[in-house]
Amino acid sequence: MLALMEDDRPDTRSGLERARARLASVFGFPVFRAGQEEVVATLLAGGDAFVVWPTGGGKSLCYQLPALVRPGTGLVVSPLIALMQDQVAALTELGVAAAACHSNLPPGELAAVERRLRSGELDLLYVAPERLLTDRFLALLAELPLALIAIDEAHCVSQWGHDFRPEYLGLAVLAERFPGVPRLALTATADPPTRREIVARLGLGEARIFLASFDRPNLRYRVVDKQGDPRRQLLDFLGAEHAGHCGIVYRFSRAKVEQTAAWLSEHGVAALPYHAGMSAEERRATLDRFRSDEALVVVATVAFGMGIDRPDVRFVAHLDLPKSLEAYHQETGRAGRDGEPADAWMAYGLQDVVNLRRLIDAGEAEEGRKQIERRKLDALLAYCETTECRRRALLRYFGEELAAPCGNCDTCLEPVATWDATVPAQKALSAVYRTGERFGAMHLVDLLRGEATEKMRRHGHDRLPTFGVGGELDAKGWRAVFRQLVARGLLAVDADGLNVLRLTPRAWPVLRGEERLALREERRPEKKRRRASAPAAGDEALFPETRRFEALRALRKELAEAAGVPPYLIFHDRTLQEIAARVPATLAELAGVPGVGAKKLERYGERVLRALREGT
Ligand code: ADP
Ligand code: ZN
Repeated sequence: MLALMEDDRPDTRSGLERARARLASVFGFPVFRAGQEEVVATLLAGGDAFVVWPTGGGKSLCYQLPALVRPGTGLVVSPLIALMQDQVAALTELGVAAAACHSNLPPGELAAVERRLRSGELDLLYVAPERLLTDRFLALLAELPLALIAIDEAHCVSQWGHDFRPEYLGLAVLAERFPGVPRLALTATADPPTRREIVARLGLGEARIFLASFDRPNLRYRVVDKQGDPRRQLLDFLGAEHAGHCGIVYRFSRAKVEQTAAWLSEHGVAALPYHAGMSAEERRATLDRFRSDEALVVVATVAFGMGIDRPDVRFVAHLDLPKSLEAYHQETGRAGRDGEPADAWMAYGLQDVVNLRRLIDAGEAEEGRKQIERRKLDALLAYCETTECRRRALLRYFGEELAAPCGNCDTCLEPVATWDATVPAQKALSAVYRTGERFGAMHLVDLLRGEATEKMRRHGHDRLPTFGVGGELDAKGWRAVFRQLVARGLLAVDADGLNVLRLTPRAWPVLRGEERLALREERRPEKKRRRASAPAAGDEALFPETRRFEALRALRKELAEAAGVPPYLIFHDRTLQEIAARVPATLAELAGVPGVGAKKLERYGERVLRALREGT
């Protein structure tokens, strides 16, 4: 149990007052963030809650704080071991008694955790669903006072959601087995149908629902067209805007992850791969470096991310399309959790669309599931091709309407022109039709451009009326037309693996001239923009504040290495900046800086003050 001064005398304060005190003394936060206090109050009053807030919204505190205030242990169901370990490490660092219980635990440690649980010593226990739902464990819990039950990543219970985990379905029994224990479901990704499913499946009909905006105003959304080697585009983007920054690059396959990481390293960017095919040690090594290196790019499949709560990730780049807009929102949400400007950058092209469509069609899933996936992909493609404010398009998917264009996305910063593409679209569609719906975009572009290739002559396509009618666009322009026709569902991709394009019923109104079609003008290659960046190290003209910040950062690195934890678990950048700005002279003044709780003050306070005295 927490041994803080305020526990030493009988406590007559209300639960909420005690929660507020703990917020400051344990977590070092002066005030609640929007919504947190209401959720905490609901649980303290014994009610259930369902919290749908985006990544970085501050969900963890909603169960951590009431677990400290209510008698008994707070149980947190979590699907991923890495996520549990991170949380337990962070809590331990704050002086909270927390442990994790999952199938990877060596037998000896498992027994130790159970002993601590029985003795009532634990404030928080993180547990994997399959472990929780064993008869033995449920029986053990039935004998203990539980402060609350939190179900993290609650969308895993929904088949409509993007990360369905069958073992989550079993969590429905918690309501019956532990009546009277307040329950809290949390998720960062839930469109309206997913939300309804979570409430139904977890028996949260009585729960108060807390919805927060999915907007992440500090993220700048950008989608660029793939031109040639997308790695080159990425490198230009990194060089222009993110030199020396920490970021994540998502790729679809393990092979591409490996190639891209190697390629970036060859081109002077510190980059490491991460995917599920690597050994546990290799993954652990990448994770450790990601936590501790100031500047590192991790190239990863989606296996990387859940549970990574490094706050100063400055960009997330997608070199392949994510699976859905929920996945995109969640993956990009890992950037800029500290609230500072960060980039969500994506390169996408026709081949991505073809690959994803084919993957769904050729997949093993039953037809109902495939239909859900197709609708999700359509929504994602509409986002990629949108000509309006990108943030608006994204938020609309989550059931939110943004009052005005955001001013911080590519379409706002550089409005996209559209053009009347009806005639070129008709030409492209008839090229598909006239060749018997048996060819891919490459050949069709050649046909429109009048390239008399060997393949063209072999099929007699050089004698078709559509041969060479497409002089108004170059090959790149035609590829963009085909991509948008596929993205908008006028053309479909066959599941045969050969990228064959077919007409869909939606093509006919355009072909017959009943409907006009506006397409987006292709973007010019990105102009190099340079963001004001911190002065380079060694710069003599450093401001005193920057110098203090650098001194504090050096101290943090030292403390982190000594404690064997990532630097941001010692102090966030935000906290260091605040210290550098305020220059506290005493421990009491230092305690007033947001992010400096009692434990941190006790452990690191003197060292921080000394660094300030010496570093300036
Ligand atoms: P989520 O689980 O919703 O993704 P977290 O719980 O990890 O978000 O919180 C995101 C960040 O916000 C963390 O770094 C956390 O320490 C910080 N945070 C949470 N609540 C507060 C608060 N009341 N004041 C200041 N920072 C907070
Ligand atoms: Zn915008």
